[in-house]
Amino acid sequence: MIAIAKEKLLEQQWHHLPAPEISSELNSNLETGLASAEVAKRQEQFGSNELKGKAGKSPLVRFLLQFNQPLLYILLIAGAIKAFLGEWVNAWVIWGVTLINAIIGFVQESKAESAIAALASSVKTDTNIIRNSSKVQVPSTELVPGDIVLLTSGDKVPADLRLVQARNLQINESALTGESVAVEKDTQPIQKDAPLAERTNMAYAGSFVTSGTGRGIVVAIGEATETGRISQLMDRGTNLTTPLTRKFDKFSRKLLYIILGIATLTFVIGLGYGNSWVAMFEAAVALAVSAIPEGLPAVVTVTLAIGVSRMARRHAIVRKLPAVETLGGATVICSDKTGTLTENQMTVQAIYAGGENYTVSGGGYVPEGEIFLHEKPVNLKDFSGLQECLKAGILCNDSRLETKDGQWSVIGDPTEGALIALAKKVGFSEENVEREMPRLDVIPFESEFQYMATLHKEPGEVAQSKSQNQKSKIVYVKGSVEAILNRSEQMLDARGNLTPVDKNAVHQEVDAMATEGLRVLAFAKKNVDVNQNSLEHTDIENNLIFIGLQGMIDPPRSEAIKAVQACQEAGIQVKMITGDHAVTAQAIASRMGFNKDREVLAFTGQELTQMNEQELANAVEDGAVFARVAPEQKLRLVEALQSKGEIVAMTGDGVNDAPALKQADIGIAMGGAGTEVAKEAADMILTDDNFASIEAAVEEGRTVYRNLMKAIAFILPVNGGESMTILLSVLLARELPILSLQVLWLNMVNSITMTVPLAFEPPSGRVMQQPPRHPNEPLLSRRLLQRILVISAFNWIVIFGVFEWIRQTTGNLALARTMAIQALVAGRIFYLLSISKLGSSIIEKISGRIQQISDAPAILIGIICTVILQIIFSQWSLMNNLFYTAPLNINQWLICLLVGLPMIAVASLVNRFDPPN
Ligand code: ADP
Ligand code: MG
Repeated sequence: MIAIAKEKLLEQQWHHLPAPEISSELNSNLETGLASAEVAKRQEQFGSNELKGKAGKSPLVRFLLQFNQPLLYILLIAGAIKAFLGEWVNAWVIWGVTLINAIIGFVQESKAESAIAALASSVKTDTNIIRNSSKVQVPSTELVPGDIVLLTSGDKVPADLRLVQARNLQINESALTGESVAVEKDTQPIQKDAPLAERTNMAYAGSFVTSGTGRGIVVAIGEATETGRISQLMDRGTNLTTPLTRKFDKFSRKLLYIILGIATLTFVIGLGYGNSWVAMFEAAVALAVSAIPEGLPAVVTVTLAIGVSRMARRHAIVRKLPAVETLGGATVICSDKTGTLTENQMTVQAIYAGGENYTVSGGGYVPEGEIFLHEKPVNLKDFSGLQECLKAGILCNDSRLETKDGQWSVIGDPTEGALIALAKKVGFSEENVEREMPRLDVIPFESEFQYMATLHKEPGEVAQSKSQNQKSKIVYVKGSVEAILNRSEQMLDARGNLTPVDKNAVHQEVDAMATEGLRVLAFAKKNVDVNQNSLEHTDIENNLIFIGLQGMIDPPRSEAIKAVQACQEAGIQVKMITGDHAVTAQAIASRMGFNKDREVLAFTGQELTQMNEQELANAVEDGAVFARVAPEQKLRLVEALQSKGEIVAMTGDGVNDAPALKQADIGIAMGGAGTEVAKEAADMILTDDNFASIEAAVEEGRTVYRNLMKAIAFILPVNGGESMTILLSVLLARELPILSLQVLWLNMVNSITMTVPLAFEPPSGRVMQQPPRHPNEPLLSRRLLQRILVISAFNWIVIFGVFEWIRQTTGNLALARTMAIQALVAGRIFYLLSISKLGSSIIEKISGRIQQISDAPAILIGIICTVILQIIFSQWSLMNNLFYTAPLNINQWLICLLVGLPMIAVASLVNRFDPPN
């Protein structure tokens, strides 16, 4: 093949050319695709099919934005005041601290952002294409111009394609054109100057196939695509704000006013006492600085980021950061049944055909087992009704079985795999049957229609035995019982003759199977005109001949059963939403322990449509199973639950699930079975499609929130203690026990080293035993406030007491201040232990309740770092000069430690009212 020129591709008006010309322009072949050697060459020439995207805000801007916090303004101004007073060292230290704060914030934020972005992009998009004459799946990044792409509903269009085949193909191009209604596609050439939105024979990268199927040839990849050209649309920046960070912002703004008020008051009162301006500036600045929790923003970001990576380890990939928090507050989880709650490992166990009930032995997809009638193995030849049922199962089928190292597995839909395994058990070979009756056309299964149909040639001999004008073609249909029976008038009896179908009798058979938890599939056929070569929905609207039923077992996942229990213990309702039969779904829900002590109530989609808003709202609260639910109804369910004040997590995988996923507080898409549309709409993606991972994510979400609260409970009392100290000293007209620079050291260096480890705290046994947090819960609950006040008071006593005591006994101000700080930090260490898992496990170990102390290296490392930093802080002469500290001797160190000890008692008292774990 001759190389294709890059420039020429860009100029070409693909929509204007007829299909055959396109493939020759691109040196490709519509039937066989490109050959591997050519692909390699083109990959080298055109590069990878990726959008670099706009980089978001520049690093400099993001760095400067770090200073854009009310609390930091105060610090900057404080530094300016110091400079104005000529205290340059002081000023520089304050500015230096703000700078360090900004750097830490910047680094943490960038790390968190790139971690989340990396996770989100680790969810790769695969594309079905034709290469070397066969259908293969490749990552979308590997596409080259000339590749032949196969599209089906739910796919994300991977590159710009000129369509060469379209079957009811509709594509949503809203990302490109802003038009939210999907566009009907075809393959006819269009005039040159047609605007983008009217080029109906093109499919553009980044748009979504909402229905139908199609085939197209890649004409542009990566930056050369239409989306790539207007890449402003692609903002790569990840948003780090969450409801909680917004609450924090509000909180710090309030705090700012309070601080400013008190600082002014201090200043005025101090002056009134006749203190010097300079001394009062120092006091006001120290007060302002002491009241600001400078370390908190960094800790919040770290905690959220750690939550994200922990969830990823447990198979839940967070696409949007707020989900981390919202998950912790979820009150209802609506989950798909098949594949999420169940294994999606189908085995046919019961057959109803020709008026007889058969049972089947064997498990999994291994084609070993037998079919029994009245407990005797059957000879297939004698049962034409049964034969026809099995035949329908393998002909109306898009999947196949594969063996690898003796393990049988399905390529495609497990429901269909079960049908093949069954047929194989009795020696039916799908190859033979397919050769005898080749497929001419297909309507693929879609949840919306609940059936699949295929058109076949009749086998040679059969056709010949009939008179010439009777010769016909056959359509096989399989689907839900309702979908099939509504279209059937007749059925095959045991001998293969036609009789009127007794729908009640069939429904009874279905109920019998469904009560056992079997998933029931109905089969039918229809003879159509010999000239018919394609299939439409209208062809099978009526006059089907009912063939029979196959009931298959799909065992619940054992982890999912445990997870459902865990959710219920955690006060979270679990609801099953399925396209399956109500009775089947109900049986499985009961087996999985939904509504432990109540009956499992089930509603069908049809019942839901007939309800008004009020009835619906009640039904969604009471019901645990919603069966035969059409995807559009999921949206109504979510809204109804939300109207009842619930925080809803909802799973989905299909194209039509996207609106519900967006509406839900947490939309969860399946990483394996999910369509690209669903993944794009979701807040979170499950890599293993397993319900247990949702429960794990909720647990992590709750842990994140709890750890954040721990961080607040840890940081704020120090601010409280410091500001109480300074305020009181001014009011009592005494020397300040702690200087503004020392406050900064405590609030920044010390707070961050000690609080960041809290972000690593493991989930405690209790997080899943409490009811979900109320969504409107204030940032500082009453208990938390009380805790902060008590610990603040203790801190105040320590700082003020130690300072006054040492000052009066030694007269050495620097020593008194240093010892006050060291005693405070000693108390802090005990407090940290008291709220951490490590501390509580030490207590349990001492009291003999557990064997092993919880291993929490983060807390230990934090404490060790703290001790080292504090030693440097007072023993190193440089630090003495910068921070006005004094070195301590060993006795003085011990005194500080002793003064901190009573914190253990105070903390355990507080813990009794407000258990931290
Ligand atoms: P769910 O995923 O919740 O089990 P589906 O929408 O996949 O629900 O299936 C709904 C119904 O459609 C099933 O009960 C079954 O009767 C029918 N069905 C499922 N898969 C197929 C298929 N591949 N071909 C035909 N009918 C199917
Ligand atoms: Mg399904």
